[in-house]
Amino acid sequence: MLLKNFFIGLSENQTLNTLAQKYGYKLGAQTVVAGENIDEVVESIRVLNSQGISATVDNLGEFVFEKSEALAAKDEILNVIEAIHEHELDAHISLKPTQLGLDIDYDFCHENLREIVERAAKYDIFVNFDMEDYGHLQPSFDLMDELSADFDNIGTVIQSYFFRAKEDIEKYKDYRLRIVKGAYKEPEDVAYQSKEDIDRNFIELIEYHLLHGKFTSIATHDHHVINHVKRFAKENNIPRDKYEFQMLYGFRNELQLELANEGYNFCTYVPFGEDWYGYFMRRLAERPQNINLVTKQVFNKRTNTALAIGAGAFLLGRLSKRKK
Ligand SMILES: Cc1cc2nc3c(=O)[nH]c(=O)nc-3n(C[C@H](O)[C@H](O)[C@H](O)COP(=O)(O)OP(=O)(O)OC[C@H]3O[C@@H](n4cnc5c(N)ncnc54)[C@H](O)[C@@H]3O)c2cc1C
Repeated sequence: MLLKNFFIGLSENQTLNTLAQKYGYKLGAQTVVAGENIDEVVESIRVLNSQGISATVDNLGEFVFEKSEALAAKDEILNVIEAIHEHELDAHISLKPTQLGLDIDYDFCHENLREIVERAAKYDIFVNFDMEDYGHLQPSFDLMDELSADFDNIGTVIQSYFFRAKEDIEKYKDYRLRIVKGAYKEPEDVAYQSKEDIDRNFIELIEYHLLHGKFTSIATHDHHVINHVKRFAKENNIPRDKYEFQMLYGFRNELQLELANEGYNFCTYVPFGEDWYGYFMRRLAERPQNINLVTKQVFNKRTNTALAIGAGAFLLGRLSKRKK
């Protein structure tokens, strides 16, 4: 828990974010980020598609407070949509409402999202509204509700750590939903804190949506959950075109391929761009061993894992001292 809080704290540090953008990519972020620009991400998706894996593309960025930044993010997402169409990729969009201006002005964000969803609808491309922290949960649902009046290519995420998740999943059962455990640090009055409670609710939500929902994306690296879902789907005759597994780019690559080769629909979450820092710190908060993914790029193969983890933690510790 201490480490989780430590990394979540780092994920919110602006100075470190700027430093990371400057140096981090070359230091190894490319293991979990699929490219710095659209050409590179198109290439990464092509590779996944050739392995029978589809992609959900995330132009990295969040918690934007300047209109110019939000507009630039919108333009880049529109470019991704055009690229998916032009290159006939098996891919759709994941976006974060705060990147499109939710913290600046609700209506401004609405207009940006509308333009994206409309362009995606033109090419029959699905758009997932990623869910962020609790403060942005209800406004994100509101945005989706409003846009759903005109478009049906939208879905969102249900986070199993929230007490309200069961209510939300019942309300949104006719949507394509991604179900996750939840990646942010949330207070005790709104969210389960223990792994047992979060995991139990995760399974209940997945089972509910598999039985009653439109389409379920089970987004987890947890093989216990994946094995449970495989059994549950078989016992309840849930057709394979009603669900898919999702994992993050660069994580458990062998398991990703294995599931695709077993004939399950598999979709990899493909982040790209320079703003990778908050994203990667949340991955460390979930699982500090993920530091391996970066340190393996920096140290030669003979360096043992313990040394790599130690050096990574040391580096992060030094950087955190500069936090204001
Ligand atoms: C595709 C995708 C989209 C997501 N979108 C969102 C979102 O919109 N909003 C949000 O809040 N969160 C999102 N998340 C993050 C999510 O909420 C979790 O924080 C994150 O997935 C970690 O939980 P987990 O279920 O993967 O497994 P964990 O609870 O981290 O791990 C459970 C167990 O799985 C095994 N395991 C996990 N990772 C590995 C590994 N790398 N190698 C070997 N074994 C491993 C270990 O045995 C571990 O004990 C997303 C996650 C994915 C995969």
